[in-house]
Amino acid sequence: MGDILNLSIKKKESSNSDPNFKKLIYKLEDYLSKTQVESIKLAYQFSKDSHGTQLRKSGEPYINHPISVANILAAMKMDADSIIAAILHDVVEDTHIETSEIKKNFGDDVALIVDGVSKLEHIKFSSKAEAEAENFSKMMIAMSKDLRVMLVKLADRLHNMRTISFLSIDKQKRISKETLEIYVPIAHRLGMNKMRLELEELSFKTLNPRRYQIITENVKEYKKNKRKVVEKTKAKIIERLLENKIIAEVIGREKNPYSIYKKMKYKKLSFKKVYDIFGFRVVTESIDECYQILGRLHNLYKPVPGRFKDYIALPKSNGYQSLHTVLYGPNGIIMEIQIRTTEMDKFAGSGIASHWQYKIGGKFSAQAFAHDWLKSIIDIKKTTSSSFDFLENMKVNLLPDEIYLFTPAGAIKRLPKDSSVIDFAYSVHTDIGNKCVGAKINGVNQPLSTPLSNGQTVEILTSPIGKPNPSWLEYVVTGKARTNIKNYLRDLKEDSAYELGLRIFDQALNDYGTSFIDLKEDEYKKVLSIYGYSNPRQLIINIGLGNVIPHLLARDITEKKNIISSTYNSWLKKVIKSKKQNIPIKGTEGLIVKYANCCHPIPGDDIIGVMSAGNGFVVHRAACKNLKKGLQRINIEWSDKVEGEFLVEIQVISTNERGVLSKVAGVISSFSCNIENVRFNEVEIPYASICFSIKVTSRDHVAEVIKELRKLPDINKVVRT
Ligand code: MN
Repeated sequence: MGDILNLSIKKKESSNSDPNFKKLIYKLEDYLSKTQVESIKLAYQFSKDSHGTQLRKSGEPYINHPISVANILAAMKMDADSIIAAILHDVVEDTHIETSEIKKNFGDDVALIVDGVSKLEHIKFSSKAEAEAENFSKMMIAMSKDLRVMLVKLADRLHNMRTISFLSIDKQKRISKETLEIYVPIAHRLGMNKMRLELEELSFKTLNPRRYQIITENVKEYKKNKRKVVEKTKAKIIERLLENKIIAEVIGREKNPYSIYKKMKYKKLSFKKVYDIFGFRVVTESIDECYQILGRLHNLYKPVPGRFKDYIALPKSNGYQSLHTVLYGPNGIIMEIQIRTTEMDKFAGSGIASHWQYKIGGKFSAQAFAHDWLKSIIDIKKTTSSSFDFLENMKVNLLPDEIYLFTPAGAIKRLPKDSSVIDFAYSVHTDIGNKCVGAKINGVNQPLSTPLSNGQTVEILTSPIGKPNPSWLEYVVTGKARTNIKNYLRDLKEDSAYELGLRIFDQALNDYGTSFIDLKEDEYKKVLSIYGYSNPRQLIINIGLGNVIPHLLARDITEKKNIISSTYNSWLKKVIKSKKQNIPIKGTEGLIVKYANCCHPIPGDDIIGVMSAGNGFVVHRAACKNLKKGLQRINIEWSDKVEGEFLVEIQVISTNERGVLSKVAGVISSFSCNIENVRFNEVEIPYASICFSIKVTSRDHVAEVIKELRKLPDINKVVRT
């Protein structure tokens, strides 16, 4: 007690003259109580006295560092104990003060945090030595006891990175590398994006100064050129929202140099390709308004298909929530839009720290929020025998954008998140990718489309007759797989067009009483010149591509052919084949077969094929009203083993537009359907009609979704359009 009294007397002399500390107090008075602010003033004096005449490498008094760290935490509105711990965080490490003294003066929590942060001070991650792994596991365990240890440590690291220029080049590089490999992923995992971005940028600037400079200059130049378009687009968005009485803030988003660099490097794109995308963030009050805004923007600008992501219904693993969509803007520009509530926006910035102001049942909600993750850390610790394994496991756990997988031989493959079996196969070898037909994941047979997750052992099954399929492009995320599949398909397109062309042609010939095998080569060759092709294969390929109408060709051939001699044979065949064979549609035909946009056929529907020059082979629903007479129809049916996902439109009519959107999106997501687009139809008030384009596997699948949607309150009608 005597100590504290002494301190409070000294306080009056010095705290007023320190502008850095004044700034801190100003922030704290905004959200902490008077008593709390008083104890923070005591901590300041205690730390200042303990550090005494110590100086930082920059030459300034040492106390500036802990106060700057406290300022970073105060900006995130962290609690009083965290602020005090920040002010004292280097005291035990750098002075004669013992932890027990801190405990006596500032309580158990503060002492625990300071102790945790001091221990972390020693850990260096430059090599994979067992000793360092041991340290790393200590760090994780310290963090799992009280997350505030990590938050103080991150703020400490951020200030050290901001002032890194005073250290030797070697030290700068080592610390930046460690920041990028260890602290950036932790900040990311905790959802602290503002902190992560600054750490990334500072590390990148230190490790790669030349590239940093080039990219920064390019960004500046580019922004200058495009300012007008951005302003105009922004104004248009705001205007459209106001017309619909939606209040929202529209903010232009900027990519940071490091993320541009990463994209250029991993996706092998030019600066212009990466940067030639505008980013807008729309922040509003309620979740319903978020979906409203989405719908309005999709009416204003055409959405890029397949790019809508609903992280509100299905938040990311670090708790991030937002709607993402990509639109074709004016003058052909591409715009990435994020739509979220103020609360989600706050979380997107400071992540777990934004939960700190709330307590649930006497516990910090942040700690509760991170509970699952922390529990998994402890579980990993329990189940791994060596610290080295633990470190490897933790890295896996810390890098949410990457997954680590094993080959049966035990080799490690690092792939981006959401990679599928196909990505894995191509990462092993192009030939393995081209010939893969399935995989054993942890010993169990799984289809190629299976998304992989961390730590799985993947054995690729290949077959000599295996070959890439256009539908694979929907499952792959790596550039290597994509390029290889596309190259293969360019060649394959001809092969499969030939195959399909042959089937369609044969069917057409059947209608004229003959078949492909019955054609005599010379008769067939006669028509080649008429159609302008030099070899039969080319002609058949063009049937498959829809450039030649098969029935016209069949008629031309049969008319020129002397049918009389084979009349009997043909007749006989016709009888035998009277049970007309339909062409099966497997869903894996890819580029050759298109699905009509007017009626969106899905497995289970009655379907009919239509051939036309230019459009090629298009599958319609048999009942489609857009099927004009005179079009060449081809009998088709769904194969028993149909694969893939198919686009379908459902219309939802409700009396309460505002209440219904998020619920509908939630139900759709719960059936693992991707929402591809949301569109508003103007109908008479009080009714609202909203069209959702979703991907389903079959008629039954969509029926289940509709059934569930009908159970929602305020829904008047749900139909497939
Ligand atoms: Mn420090």
